[in-house]
Amino acid sequence: MERQELLDRFLAYSPHVDVAMLAKAYDYSVKAHADQARASGEHYFVHCEAVSASLIDWKMDLPTVCAGLLHDVLEDTPVTAEEMRREFGDEVTKLVLGVTKLDRLQFSSTSAAQAENWRKMLLATAQDIRVIVIKLADRLHNMRTLNYLSRERQKRIARETLSLYAPLAHRLGMFELKSELEDLGFQYLYPEEFEDLSAKVNALVKAREATLSKFKDAVEKAVEKTGIAHRILARSKSLYSIYQKMLRQNKPFEEIQDALGVRIITDTVADCYALLGVVHTQFKPVAGTFTDYISLPKMNLYQSLHTTVMGPAGELVEIQIRTEEMHRTSEYGIAAHWRYKTGEESRDLHLEEKLNWLRQWIEWLQDLKSPREFLDSLKTDLELNQVFVFTPGGDVKVLPGGATPLDFAFAVHTEIGQACVGAQVNNKMVKLDYKLKSGDICKILTKKGSEPKKDWLNMVRTARARSKIRHFLREKGIVA
Ligand code: MN
Repeated sequence: MERQELLDRFLAYSPHVDVAMLAKAYDYSVKAHADQARASGEHYFVHCEAVSASLIDWKMDLPTVCAGLLHDVLEDTPVTAEEMRREFGDEVTKLVLGVTKLDRLQFSSTSAAQAENWRKMLLATAQDIRVIVIKLADRLHNMRTLNYLSRERQKRIARETLSLYAPLAHRLGMFELKSELEDLGFQYLYPEEFEDLSAKVNALVKAREATLSKFKDAVEKAVEKTGIAHRILARSKSLYSIYQKMLRQNKPFEEIQDALGVRIITDTVADCYALLGVVHTQFKPVAGTFTDYISLPKMNLYQSLHTTVMGPAGELVEIQIRTEEMHRTSEYGIAAHWRYKTGEESRDLHLEEKLNWLRQWIEWLQDLKSPREFLDSLKTDLELNQVFVFTPGGDVKVLPGGATPLDFAFAVHTEIGQACVGAQVNNKMVKLDYKLKSGDICKILTKKGSEPKKDWLNMVRTARARSKIRHFLREKGIVA
């Protein structure tokens, strides 16, 4: 990409920003990496440019895009942080330093060092979420160019991408990125399964093209009559999510029903529900498949109505209904909210909430002593299956699947967790290792002076509860 094209793409969403620094960063990076090449044989700068192009796609701010161009300069060239600070100021330099520190630890192979690497990454993120967004753009381009590396490194990087980067992208609500990282990771880690499945999905898309387009027309016709503004997209699920479903349900591809689907995008929340009514009147809904992520958004801000219905030919089709804004959020996630920060500051409430969650979470993780424990907690907390549990006052707490009243108690308040002696769910007494379900109303019974027990450690799922309990037991000398 020419320098001017990069500037123009940035200016398209930030017309009032002075791009002199961006132009300077472009030239600086070209010069600094002048005598380096990638494994592909290409000029090294191609990588820096690709990273900044992704950041522009996600509509990140000026310092972030500059840092994207410069992200490997401190790592791979003689340029020092002082020099960079003189040229580009403190903000850009801090972002680059954040990314650099993470890279430094990357090549050690022990899982302890890897966990330490992740801990550093998350600490950096807690200070500035933009560091991780740059790191994700970096990982995306490295995954896209993975074919130039040895089989050994391909597998290691693909595994790391599937177990940590893709879930993190999902956690940040960057759905498009998550899908691409997953499909690339899948392709390199399980090449045979990938080939097999992509052939099958392509065949299915071909075979069902006619049916799906007929179904799309039928929806179109029903929706047309209402006069509600909308657009309808036919879609196929990402390969990796189909594969996961096959493993989870232990079914062959032929029995996965909802590999194809239809998405209806409209203007307002009221329109979403109106269109759901139209769809359910016209097509028979499959019992138990309706989920309302508009009233209860996922933790990563994702919102939509999901329902599976039976099409004219008896086929099952998943339908997602959402507004244009929800659609943007589902593609860009946290980045979609970030971009408002520079413009309309009032739209940023969600992001701040989100960042607080991330900061708190990292604080809890910090209490964990061993790297192994840290990595396990991280993986548990990144799991996507989650339950919504209500306090008697109607506040909702989002917890990982399998969470217990103890997790809930510590999520409400540390003191409530520590003094917990029992719990009621929907007005019935339950054991403390009861597995909470979405929609449960949970009331925690406490007794003054009561203290956490050692076996509680086996009953909790969240890093927060575990670290609080462990901290208490450690102070009492009950555990090391
Ligand atoms: Mn890089």
